[in-house]
Amino acid sequence: MGPGSKEPRALLEDILAANKEVLDTSNPSHLDNTLPDPDATPAPPAKVTSPEKPKLKVGLFVGHNKGTGAVAIDGADEWESRNKVALAASEKLTDAGYEVHVIYRDGSVGYSAAMRAHGERSRADKLDVAIELHFNAYDGQAHGAEMIVATHKSANTLGKAFQEATEEFYPNRTLRDGGVKLKTSGRGHLFNANQRCPSGIYEPCFGDAEEWLEYAGDVDKEASYLANIVERFHEGAG
Ligand SMILES: [Zn+2]
Repeated sequence: MGPGSKEPRALLEDILAANKEVLDTSNPSHLDNTLPDPDATPAPPAKVTSPEKPKLKVGLFVGHNKGTGAVAIDGADEWESRNKVALAASEKLTDAGYEVHVIYRDGSVGYSAAMRAHGERSRADKLDVAIELHFNAYDGQAHGAEMIVATHKSANTLGKAFQEATEEFYPNRTLRDGGVKLKTSGRGHLFNANQRCPSGIYEPCFGDAEEWLEYAGDVDKEASYLANIVERFHEGAG
């Protein structure tokens, strides 16, 4: 054959190759001469399942019982104010992918039994971190922020998160003892003693001192601060 007859053949091959690409008969969707295959009908969309695993399971324990606890300089009640912050922080953390449990004391039993119940609740909910919310009160003169922990592990994770978040959100606050107090007896210890996960007593300020007003006037800010403590703990604890 002469060279001239090769060109139409090459052109035909090009067209066939192009058609093959478009009309890919190995792909059933490109066949138009068959009835729909019922077996190929796509399955209905999967039931929407719960969002992926929570980043952490967080327990926010409101300190004291309703109507008890300290009273701030503006008359604010410790339980009421801590409850507001716990609920607002819970909303923020839930939005950020955490599973949050706001937990109250059983007011019908004594302190020790209530703390044991908190520990049981914490294990039942498989909490990764447990924080009991308070504000401090002493003689109207004392001031500053601290988190009371019972183990070095809690100090180095949750305590560190508390320290860093306080520096960011309330830079004027004095960090009492560097912001983290390791205590294996006395005030607040039974809360920590009953927890198996990192835990701490959150005392961001003294309610009976002027510094309280910075918290009283802005629940949303304190809630963001508390949420930030949890986020820092999460990042640090990996
Ligand atoms: Zn308290």
